[in-house]
Amino acid sequence: LEKEMVRLERLNLIGQMAAGIGHEIRNPMTTVRGYLQYLSKKDKYSDQVETFQLMIEELDRANEIITEYLFLSQDRVVDFKRLNLNTIIHHLYPLLSVHTKIEDMNIKLNLGSIPDLYLDEKELRQLILNLARNGLEAMSAKGTLTIATYSQQGNVILEVEDQGTGIPNDIKDKIGTPFFTTKLNGTGLGMAICYSIAARHNATIGFQSSPQGTKVRVKFQGCRGVS
Ligand code: ADP
Ligand code: MG
Repeated sequence: LEKEMVRLERLNLIGQMAAGIGHEIRNPMTTVRGYLQYLSKKDKYSDQVETFQLMIEELDRANEIITEYLFLSQDRVVDFKRLNLNTIIHHLYPLLSVHTKIEDMNIKLNLGSIPDLYLDEKELRQLILNLARNGLEAMSAKGTLTIATYSQQGNVILEVEDQGTGIPNDIKDKIGTPFFTTKLNGTGLGMAICYSIAARHNATIGFQSSPQGTKVRVKFQGCRGVS
């Protein structure tokens, strides 16, 4: 538990720093984005529309990274509403399937009957997205990603299971440490964000992994549930 507290405090610090810097950087970025949009509509740059579009997309990507960091801060403003996890998953589904089109992968939903919970929708979207992305990235070429929900002893369980290569024992403890990644283009923030979001929802995260795949289980404790 103490280890968990230290970890959350570290995440919180990074999140707070990011919030400070992020707000400062966002203002000039918004200005630049506005000018780019303005210039891209000018006749004399009509042959450069694609270049402008690319520049705008890159700015948006930078903006998204700032948004991700903000999820690490424990005192970010959360908006808990009475929601059903299944609804959030259904809404996310089209976004998730985009990732599977190119490869021989599919996503299976196995959603049980679960009570509503008090959730911050944006945070839950981010949590599920991060877990699903990891699962899909672990499978590299083909396989099924299964997202399941069910009730168990008054708790709501969310499971994201992949048919990837599993998590080697020696890195299990490092997962969720900010910037820890084994991927060439990884940020190593995905799981740190998941832990941070889970903590704000009174939920815990556990792994079950073998060389045939990984199952990540998020357990929402009963007290925030609504029957
Ligand atoms: P990133 O995805 O940017 O590497 P994450 O925090 O999401 O950062 O994940 C950290 C590391 O944990 C990954 O680089 C990977 O080694 C490991 N990992 C997370 N989820 C899985 C999974 N489903 N299967 C295998 N390894 C995983
Ligand atoms: Mg990730």
